Amino acid sequence: MNCDLFAICGFVRKYNTPHNVACHGFITRFCKGPDKDKCKRLEYRRAYGLQPEDEMLPTGLIVKIDI
Ligand code: SF4
Repeated sequence: MNCDLFAICGFVRKYNTPHNVACHGFITRFCKGPDKDKCKRLEYRRAYGLQPEDEMLPTGLIVKIDI
């Protein structure tokens, strides 16, 4: 089952594209997989009440990925 925020998550909306294979592993593991409850973006949202920047990965690292 997908993460509850899958439809509105900035990371997914920006990087879940067919040609952006760099993010597919994160999406499979976190957004659609067993580690969704460990997502640092979810932790951020719970802590601050808003979404982190789109460039924050589910691991918490912030990277610039060319899309
Ligand atoms: S990045 Fe995190 S908050 Fe966004 S859809 Fe994936 S698991 Fe959910």
